[in-house]
Amino acid sequence: MKRWPSKKRTSAATLLIALAVMVGSNLPFAGGTGPQVSAMVAEVYIAARNDLILVNPYQEVDWEEHAQYRANLHTHTRQSDGLHSAARVIDAYHRAGYHILALTDHDAVTWPWNEHGRDPEELGMLAVQGNEISHAHHIGSYFCDYNIVSRRYLPVIGGIGSAANVTEEEILTGIADSDGLAVFFHPGYHGNPPQFYTSLFSKFPHLIGMEVANGKLRLQDHEIWDTVLTMLMPERPVWGFANDDLHIMWHLGRAFNVFPLPELCEAEIRSAMERGSFYFSYGSAAPVIRSILVDNEGGIVAIDGDGWEEVSWISNGFVIHQGAALDFHNTANIGAYIRAEMSGEGGITYTQPFAVGILQ
Ligand SMILES: [Zn+2]
Ligand SMILES: [Zn+2]
Repeated sequence: MKRWPSKKRTSAATLLIALAVMVGSNLPFAGGTGPQVSAMVAEVYIAARNDLILVNPYQEVDWEEHAQYRANLHTHTRQSDGLHSAARVIDAYHRAGYHILALTDHDAVTWPWNEHGRDPEELGMLAVQGNEISHAHHIGSYFCDYNIVSRRYLPVIGGIGSAANVTEEEILTGIADSDGLAVFFHPGYHGNPPQFYTSLFSKFPHLIGMEVANGKLRLQDHEIWDTVLTMLMPERPVWGFANDDLHIMWHLGRAFNVFPLPELCEAEIRSAMERGSFYFSYGSAAPVIRSILVDNEGGIVAIDGDGWEEVSWISNGFVIHQGAALDFHNTANIGAYIRAEMSGEGGITYTQPFAVGILQ
């Protein structure tokens, strides 16, 4: 695998300078927060420039050596409003070849699995501790036991009683204090303006991303993602997730995340979630990524994989190029980030966003 000398790596400081240059030159794709910026999320012509560099979230991935582990990080059981027992849900994901699973019942921590009759080690799986905090915007909470109990959830029927009177800020503070990670679930379901997301992502480093595809609900989640990325990048990445949100067995397998890891263990998964070193798919036979290479000197980013027919490169919410390789030194309309979508008969696979900086 081609590796870049460390002097070519982009530090956060370089990106901040790059952002200042973008703002200073009045380019319309500058990131940042505030209502005046959201008005800029519009189609405008941005000339190509040959001093752009990309920050590769897959920098640490060895595409030849690392095994790729399928993960569902949003799952319900009878511990809340799912139809099936935790054991049955775990067995179904195990049979389907998943190695990483978070049971995220509404306002319940269905973990450890041994309390529900299953041993993850015996199954060769990694059980991520999880919870879907459902009192305000639904938020996935991982790697901690944070919870607010104020109503009961019944299988299939749903919540009985009222939600607790708490804000998203209070929930996110609680997850941070418990040393957990947080992800917004199905943002399109809630109808919040983009500024709701940008202010919380700017405030909470442990809030790492949002669902971009949800197997149960098909919403405008990825339009929200692109809008938030356009406003926050290049300084603040927001990682995308795809999850089944399984309540009933036929939700299984339509939306999932793939983690290329040197080892299947909690520390590696958590770190990959924080770095954005994973990709995600909608469609059970969606394309598989086999390599992503970034050549900042040559201005090329190239993706390869199986089961794809078309690759689209997206920046600031617009398709800027189609094809397996993007010459980002000679392509117009590159804004604050780029990302790729590989589509094929079996579904769509999404990369995480690559921050766009300017070589200093
Ligand atoms: Zn939900
Ligand atoms: Zn859910």
